[in-house]
Amino acid sequence: MTKKIRVRFAPSPTGGLHLGGVRTVLFNYLFAKQNGGDFIVRIEDTDQTRFVEGAEAYIFETLKWCGIVPDESPLHGGPFAPYRQSERKANYRQYAEQLVIDGYAYYAFDTPAELEVMRTVYKTAENPSPQYNHALRDKMHNSLTLTPDEVATLLAAGTPYVIRIKMPLNETVSFNDMIRGEVNFNTSQVDDKVLLKADGMPTYHLAVVVDDYLMKISHAFRGEEWLPSAPVHLLLWDYLGWKNEMPEWAHLPLILKPDGNGKLSKRDGDRLGFPVFASDWTDPKTNETTIGFKERGFLPEAFVNLLAMLGWNDGSDQEIFTMDELIAKFSMERVHKGGAKFDYEKAKWYNHEWIKRKPTKELELSIQKYLAEAGITVTNDALLAKAIELVKDRCTLLTDFVQQASFFFQLPAQIDIAAVQPKWDEKKNMFFNELIRAYELSSVWESTDLETEFKELAAANQLKPGELMLPLRIMLVGGKFGPGVFDIAAAIGKNETVARIKKVLGLLHS
Ligand code: GLU
Repeated sequence: MTKKIRVRFAPSPTGGLHLGGVRTVLFNYLFAKQNGGDFIVRIEDTDQTRFVEGAEAYIFETLKWCGIVPDESPLHGGPFAPYRQSERKANYRQYAEQLVIDGYAYYAFDTPAELEVMRTVYKTAENPSPQYNHALRDKMHNSLTLTPDEVATLLAAGTPYVIRIKMPLNETVSFNDMIRGEVNFNTSQVDDKVLLKADGMPTYHLAVVVDDYLMKISHAFRGEEWLPSAPVHLLLWDYLGWKNEMPEWAHLPLILKPDGNGKLSKRDGDRLGFPVFASDWTDPKTNETTIGFKERGFLPEAFVNLLAMLGWNDGSDQEIFTMDELIAKFSMERVHKGGAKFDYEKAKWYNHEWIKRKPTKELELSIQKYLAEAGITVTNDALLAKAIELVKDRCTLLTDFVQQASFFFQLPAQIDIAAVQPKWDEKKNMFFNELIRAYELSSVWESTDLETEFKELAAANQLKPGELMLPLRIMLVGGKFGPGVFDIAAAIGKNETVARIKKVLGLLHS
C-alpha cells in the first residue's frame, strides 16, 4: 500500500513571515493538493525564549490571505492534535531517554559557566569556536565521563541536565533529496546537539523528528538553511528505529538578494524599498511595523504566482498561473537547485497582470478601502466599478488606484495649469465655451457621442482636436494621465464635466 501523502509546514512563531517561508508553505500545499494529500501546519514553539506574541495568529492570517487552507493545524484541529509542540511536551522525553539507554545519546550536566570555560580553554586559531563534539565530549561533565553511580546521584539530586546526541566519528550519512539528489555528510563535522533541554522541552532537532514520525509525514519540504541539520535528523530516524518511515526530503533553494549574493533579508527590503514579509508585521516589543506585500497593494493571486515562479517553472513560457493550475502542474523535479534572485520589478509585473485579469467586482472592496484611507469616500458603486474598469490596466499595485482614480470621485487635487497656459488663446477659449453649451444640451451622455460632438465642434472652429484634448484632460483630471478623456467625461457625468471645464476656464482667465 502506498503511503498517504502528508506534508507539513512547521514554522517557529518568531515574527513576520518572510516570502521564503510562504514559498515553503506554497510548495508543500501544491504537492499535497496535487496528490490528494493532507497539508498540516505544526507550530514549532519549543524555544520559549524566541516566542513572540501574535506571531502564530499572523501566520494563519497570511495563509488565509493566500488562499491556503490547512487540513490540520492548531486552528483547524485534526487527528494528531495538538499541533503546537509546546502542548506536546510530554511526548518527547521518552524518546530522548530511549536514545540514552541505547547508547546514542547521553546526559550532560555542564553548567553555563563550564560551557563558557570550554569555549575559552579550547579556543585556537584553527578552531575559534570550539563545539561540544566528539573531540571535547570526553573532557566534559556528562554520563560518558561520569560513572553510572555518579550519574544516578546527580539525577536523584535534581541536578539540571540536557540530553545530547552522541554523533559518531567519521561516518558518512546520506539521503536522497528530491531536488539535490544524493547528499552526503561526514558525522565528525557535526556537534553533539542538545535534544532535550534542562526545562524538559525538546529542541527543534528532537521534536521535528518525533512529530514527523507521529504525524505520519510522508514528505518534508523546508528551506535550504536546514540542510546542515539533516545529518542529525537522519541519525535520529535511524537510532529511534523509524528509518523506514522517514519522509522524503526536499530542501528548497534560497531566495536571494537582487544585488549581490546571499539570502534576501528584511534589511535588504528596507534598504531597497520593497516588502519582504507577506503582510504587515508589528514587532510587539519595539512596536515597529514592517510593511508587507498585502498592504503594499499586492493581490494574493499575484503573490502566490510570483512565489511559485521563484525557483520553479513548468518548462514552458507560461508565467501566469492560478492556484488550480499550479496544483495541476507543480513538480518538485522542476524546482531549481540554485537560489532564485528576487526581482521586485518582476514581482510588480505579476501584480499588474493579475489586476488586469481580476474581475472588477472582486477588486471593488479593496480599492474602496484604499480610497477611504486616502480620505476619498465612494458613494456611487456604479462609478466605482466604471473607474476601476477604466484604470485597472494602468495600476501595478492596488494602491495605485488612489492616484489613478481619485478624480472620478472628487475634484482633481491639483490642476496642472502650466501644461495648458503657454498655448492657450482666445480661439481655444471660445471652443471650450461652445463645448460647454453643446454638452449642456446633449441628450445622450456616452463616450463616443461626446467625442463626436467634440470633434465636430473643433472642425467647425478650424481647430485640431489634438490640440484640444490635453486642455480637456487637464480640466477633468488635473494632469497628463488617466484613461480616455471621453470615457472619463462619460463616467463622471454631465454636471461634473461641465463644472470642471468651467472651473479651469476661470483659472486660465484669472
Ligand atoms: N521550525 C523550523 C522552522 O522554523 C522548521 C524546519 C523544518 O521544516 O524542519 O523553519
